[in-house]
Amino acid sequence: MGGAEQAFVESAFASNWLSTVGENITAFEEEFEGLLGRPAVAVSSGTAAIHLGLRLLGVGPGDEVLCSDLTFVAMCNPVRYLGAEPVFLDSDRATWHLDPNVLEDALRKRAGKNKLPRALAVAHLYGGCADLDPILALCHNYGVPVLEDAAEALGARYRNKPVGTFGDFGVYSLNGNKIITATGGGVLISSNPAWIEKARFWSQQARDPDASYQHSELGYNYGFSNVLAGIARGQLQVLDRRVSERRGIAIKYQKAFSDLGGISLMPQPEWGFHTNWLSCFFINEREFGASRDSLIRRLEEANIESRPVWKPMHMQPLYSGCERFGGTVAEELHRHGICLASSSSLEEVDQLRVVNIVRGAVGGGPQSRLGGGV
Ligand SMILES: *Cc1c(COP(=O)(O)O)cnc(C)c1O
Repeated sequence: MGGAEQAFVESAFASNWLSTVGENITAFEEEFEGLLGRPAVAVSSGTAAIHLGLRLLGVGPGDEVLCSDLTFVAMCNPVRYLGAEPVFLDSDRATWHLDPNVLEDALRKRAGKNKLPRALAVAHLYGGCADLDPILALCHNYGVPVLEDAAEALGARYRNKPVGTFGDFGVYSLNGNKIITATGGGVLISSNPAWIEKARFWSQQARDPDASYQHSELGYNYGFSNVLAGIARGQLQVLDRRVSERRGIAIKYQKAFSDLGGISLMPQPEWGFHTNWLSCFFINEREFGASRDSLIRRLEEANIESRPVWKPMHMQPLYSGCERFGGTVAEELHRHGICLASSSSLEEVDQLRVVNIVRGAVGGGPQSRLGGGV
């Protein structure tokens, strides 16, 4: 926590507005809008925000939605909630993100069959950003709307503009593992204020105005809490600090491994401002001298958690049989990518332990200090 959260939470208690209405919710949405420049609705999770956004784009039974293959499952599940099917698009090795050439191929082939997808859901991974210019141009040409899943990338920018503000919808998460958190929660933003009002209406059970418990549309219990909105307001104040902390951790790892071969930080393309929500590295087993899995085991033996990069959606039993475009890049990233300890609160001595185990795994020897004066 940053410090101001508790006072905002206490103000919710003092006002006795603890549930889905209250000053913190309104203020948080205004502050979020101030940060990103687009109308925002706060909801119970990032997943809920994706569900609402895709429904507003008209996704329904029988539709297809193009999705980044390399992502977290919560991005694709709402496609199924709506009775539609995801179609997975492979990553570009140079960015780890959705490959615009694969998108082009998918759109051309679907247009040829006169069966264009209802939408594209594109993930911004690990605090980075997808190459939006070509992606948006292609989708514009084919008339396919875009939902940006920026759940992992609050604070990241593409060509100096925040990710999530380019497509028809942008989604953020306030889950416990994200760069800022309200313990749980999500935000949906759009350039279209009417869509945000509709999302708000659906998120609160879609009760018809001026009628007593009459419902004409299908709603959800996706509202945010005034208590959690207090936490979220305090967290917004420290977003910039969290971003620089996370970036600092990634850069220290990168420097500490700079003399080792076969271990490289997730690409940081020059068009993006990367928050490094997680410090992810690609392990080239032959050059590094140890496998990604043996590295995870070495860390585990020292009671240090690390994780593989996301398992692509086409490898999930849940989505076996779904169509996909592209090759095996996402699969290779999953098999050889590792997320190292990245918490904003990671102490320098603890980071040094991680560094020494990684170096020890290849006989690179321990290193007494972290590289550079970052
Ligand atoms: C965390 C995450 C979500 C889901 O957000 P929740 O707030 O946990 O529901 C969706 N997409 C991606 C890419 C995520 O990392």
